[in-house]
Amino acid sequence: MNCLFCRIVEKKIPSKKVYEDEHVFAFEDIHPQAPVHILVVPKKHISTILEAKEEDNELIGRMFQTANKLAKDRGVAERGFRLVLNCNRESGQTIYHIHLHLLAGRAMHWPPG
Ligand code: 5GP
Ligand code: ZN
Repeated sequence: MNCLFCRIVEKKIPSKKVYEDEHVFAFEDIHPQAPVHILVVPKKHISTILEAKEEDNELIGRMFQTANKLAKDRGVAERGFRLVLNCNRESGQTIYHIHLHLLAGRAMHWPPG
């Protein structure tokens, strides 16, 4: 399959890995938008969150648990962090393999741009 994040998960394309287990892979965003900007992806290819099935509920929970762990590891859990999951064009989704953005290390604005 011609999916960039599948290829990163398979290590056919290099990335700065920060976490991996049987179900989830996490790596540094190539264009960080904050001092901490990590992408958490399921190893299973799911193109948008709209495609997630009931059977993916545990997997999606694992993505959030991974983000929690990484926020604690990076020492930003207490200060705060933002988790973003874009869906489809107007949100700005560019890679059609779901990913949670973990953003932290600076004050975040609201409403988001
Ligand atoms: P989206 O806009 O789809 O929510 O987020 C895609 C993210 O993937 C962007 O923040 C972008 O910087 C990141 N990205 C795109 N290509 C690569 C790549 O080849 N390697 C890494 N590490 N990040 C990428
Ligand atoms: Zn994929």
